[in-house]
Amino acid sequence: MTITNPIKIVVVGGSFAGIAVINTLLSALGPSSKNIEITLIERRDARHHSLGAFRALINEEFHSQIWVPYTSLFPKDSPHKVIQGQLSEVHHGYIVLGTGQSIAFDYLTLCTGSSNPAPAKFNVDFSKEAIEITNKTREDIKKSNNIVIIGGGACGVEMSGEIKTAFPEKTVTLIHASGTLIDYPGYADKLKSTALTHLQALGVDVVLNERITIEGLDYNNAIQVAPRTIHTKAGKTIESDMQFLAVGIQVDTSYMSTLRPPENSNFDPQTIINEGTHTIKVQKTFQVVGFDHIFAVGDCSDFSKVPTAAACTYTGPTVAKNILALIEADTKNKKAKLVKGSGPPAIMCLATGPTTGVTHLPLFGAKFHNFFSRAFKSKDLMIGLSTAAMNIK
Ligand SMILES: Cc1cc2nc3c(=O)[nH]c(=O)nc-3n(C[C@H](O)[C@H](O)[C@H](O)COP(=O)(O)OP(=O)(O)OC[C@H]3O[C@@H](n4cnc5c(N)ncnc54)[C@H](O)[C@@H]3O)c2cc1C
Repeated sequence: MTITNPIKIVVVGGSFAGIAVINTLLSALGPSSKNIEITLIERRDARHHSLGAFRALINEEFHSQIWVPYTSLFPKDSPHKVIQGQLSEVHHGYIVLGTGQSIAFDYLTLCTGSSNPAPAKFNVDFSKEAIEITNKTREDIKKSNNIVIIGGGACGVEMSGEIKTAFPEKTVTLIHASGTLIDYPGYADKLKSTALTHLQALGVDVVLNERITIEGLDYNNAIQVAPRTIHTKAGKTIESDMQFLAVGIQVDTSYMSTLRPPENSNFDPQTIINEGTHTIKVQKTFQVVGFDHIFAVGDCSDFSKVPTAAACTYTGPTVAKNILALIEADTKNKKAKLVKGSGPPAIMCLATGPTTGVTHLPLFGAKFHNFFSRAFKSKDLMIGLSTAAMNIK
């Protein structure tokens, strides 16, 4: 392959995966950058530390920390840059942003992640808009007495725990469609049952095996303030004045629909997208199937069965190493030795308040309650990891 001078690496999406790729590249390249120019394309003006979203919901002071600016990501006077913009088309050798701007690349990494209903993640371009939504929701929570959360995955468990811990006098009900909370593949039953007893001990009312739909409460309108009486099929009546939908992770990879190999205009890009999840199909090296110089990693790729930030810290650096190996091989016209990625073990730490949580370490078959969870995650929801990764002192 003919590569340009300087060599252009483009990373799209500046969150857990994208920043892990960039930081591994930066530390391997050193200050000289060896004639390589990295460009981060990110739709937002700041990085959202999603792990802290529910603490921000009840703690205004914490809120200011979960949006981390990109201003210190790259060393000053380096050739690297951040462009705020939304990827809308991927082509062989260049991408196009929503503004129509074209950006050429030699190596591209797609890290566009996933979305969850607000207030877990936000479909906004400016942090200010997300902060306004969270501030309003915090005020609404304060005024409500009976809060219902639908969906007992990790988000529903953490959100109900945070709200109940901050406001023990309010009734918080978590309704889940299946018989176990956090029913993700690969995670131990012990974690799921411990999460249930833990929430019950906090005082959250957990209702299992009830698939509830509330008119108007959907993915794009996931926070509602209205008096509602909910009837379960088991005959329970739940009064509520505020409702949250904590169900559904969505992946938008529609920008791939323009991608074709140069020699094959009949190529159907849908063949490299998973039908149900819309994740991008990747090889074990994180190269998009059929495209050696395009990588996808993090929640937007189909590498991990359960998409997590923890997985990004394992997989992002592998992508960076493979890009560097390809550059070396391409410049010397030889075959690259690429590394295959591996994910982390199915560790899960659920924070249910500043001092409480449930952790499961499958390596030792061990489960931990508050002490370990507080030290590992609950106290500050790992905000330090994101600020350090973005070089914020
Ligand atoms: C409330 C909550 C708590 C969580 N807690 C944990 C936890 O404790 N541990 C854990 O391991 N995981 C946790 N997760 C999961 C974790 O947040 C995700 O797995 C992680 O964010 C994935 O990182 P990512 O970089 O792949 O994508 P994302 O974090 O989704 O980031 C994608 C980035 O790409 C940008 N982007 C998207 N589309 C475009 C586009 N078209 N053009 C330009 N930019 C674009 C976005 O603005 C965003 O910055 C949690 C998730 C939530 C919602």
